Amino acid sequence: MIIILKSEAAKEDADEILAQIEAAGLKPLYMPGSERVVLGAIGDERVLGQLHLDSHPMVESVKAILSPYKLVTRDVHPHDHVVELGHGVSIGGGTFTVIGGPCAIESLEQMRATAVKVKEAGGLALRGGAFKPRTSPYSFQGLGLEGLEILKQVSDELSMPSFTEVVEVADVEVVHDHASGFQVGARSMQNFRLLKALGETRKPVLLKRGMAAKIDDLLNAAEYILSGGNEDVILCERGITTFETATRNTLDLNAIPVLKKKSHLPVIVDPSHGIGIREFVIPMALAAVACGADGVIVETHIDPAKALSDGKQSLYPEQFADMVKRVRAVAEAVGKTCP
Ligand code: PEP
Ligand code: MN
Repeated sequence: MIIILKSEAAKEDADEILAQIEAAGLKPLYMPGSERVVLGAIGDERVLGQLHLDSHPMVESVKAILSPYKLVTRDVHPHDHVVELGHGVSIGGGTFTVIGGPCAIESLEQMRATAVKVKEAGGLALRGGAFKPRTSPYSFQGLGLEGLEILKQVSDELSMPSFTEVVEVADVEVVHDHASGFQVGARSMQNFRLLKALGETRKPVLLKRGMAAKIDDLLNAAEYILSGGNEDVILCERGITTFETATRNTLDLNAIPVLKKKSHLPVIVDPSHGIGIREFVIPMALAAVACGADGVIVETHIDPAKALSDGKQSLYPEQFADMVKRVRAVAEAVGKTCP
């Protein structure tokens, strides 16, 4: 439920109502606006009815939250949520953030050399997979713990935050200890046990849309994480499966304005997996910025021809640098700031 207070309501009135909500076993939310204070109560609406808040002298109106994803919806959080990644880098709230790095961490030399290029180009955060969920069991599966250690070492050396994929609940702790944020891959978007485990952590979660998931499925998956108490979710469009075979996936840019309207969470785009072909990654990154993305996550490799995974879609370092320059220009043209 959303509880809109009268304009003359004081902070004490809000506190008193929030205490009633909490005492009834519901989750209270405080959402001060520019004109009115708005409160939220998440939980069994019959219990809330028993509080008769609509007759409270300081309450103007009580409305149901119609959305099934009650914490993710913009209805209860009208302002953009900003996710802090560490090292002074954030995503959301009017800034534009570039995350770059290889698909997979292959060695200290490869990760370090690629990361140095990402930083020089103006990339603000690193990516790199240590646990790689590959379509074929015979493809490179990642370096596991050794990869996580390399990622941590490189991100410490360069003072850059890092994302890496977590594929199972048993790995949450070790990934937590080595990276600034978790990546949930497209294949895991509806691994609800994993989402619940990430809800209990307090590190950012970059949640990728499943290849056959609807926008609402993605928002419900995010709700799993928020309902555990972790509010720092970044939604990521990475392409969906369609009848098209000329590209690896179909990057659904429709999702960007729709997600931005429905949710206060930051939304980023992965054009690398979205189109899957190196020469088309930059145009799709530019398009993503133009339609409102808060950032892009792009695969780049010091030597893409030798990459053990996703080399075909990985940018050469010079291309990555060119992309950063151009996405920044578009970001500024659409009113974002580029730190
Ligand atoms: C990746 O980021 O390398 C990856 C495996 O992505 P996705 O889960 O979107 O396929
Ligand atoms: Mn990849």
